[in-house]
Amino acid sequence: MLSKKAKALQRIADEILRCRLCKKGGTGKAVPGEGNPDARIVFIGEAPGREEAKTGRPFVGRSGKLLRQTIRELGLDEADVFITSPVHYLPDTGTPSKGMIHHGREHLFKQLEVIGPDIIVLLGNSACVAMLDAKVEITKQHGTQVKKDGRTYFITVHPAFAIRFTKGKEMLLSDFSILKRMIRPIR
Ligand code: URA
Repeated sequence: MLSKKAKALQRIADEILRCRLCKKGGTGKAVPGEGNPDARIVFIGEAPGREEAKTGRPFVGRSGKLLRQTIRELGLDEADVFITSPVHYLPDTGTPSKGMIHHGREHLFKQLEVIGPDIIVLLGNSACVAMLDAKVEITKQHGTQVKKDGRTYFITVHPAFAIRFTKGKEMLLSDFSILKRMIRPIR
């Protein structure tokens, strides 16, 4: 039997699948996000890549492999967390526009309302634009917490950046060691 929260998240996923505005400028399958409805930690990315658009699941390509491995290194099981993004289709232009983020985040806000996590991990700039309404200088602000509207956010780099640049990988790993200390009391 699905819990009340699981049912509410399923309704939001159905809403994303039916949403014409989400589909505008994007291709492939919709990727509504997945994970534990009672997750204490939510990870927010940017938009689906090619593998995600084929499968309808978030972070299952190269970036996903790194993200899921670093989540396990936190001592968490992937099934403990929720992984989602502000944009739900692979953008035709590669990178999502601000308009796409601003529309897509409406669905994301609803997911967060249902889950009510303790920590929201922002993976890169699009996630920061969606949740903080600000362009953050990730290379300066990564590894820090931001409190906004009663929520706690943790800023880090997008795993794709960590794959592309050695410095990015170092940033991701050092941020996750900070995150590991942060989550100790809520695990
Ligand atoms: N990048 C994202 O931001 N999300 C995915 O699901 C995959 C890659």
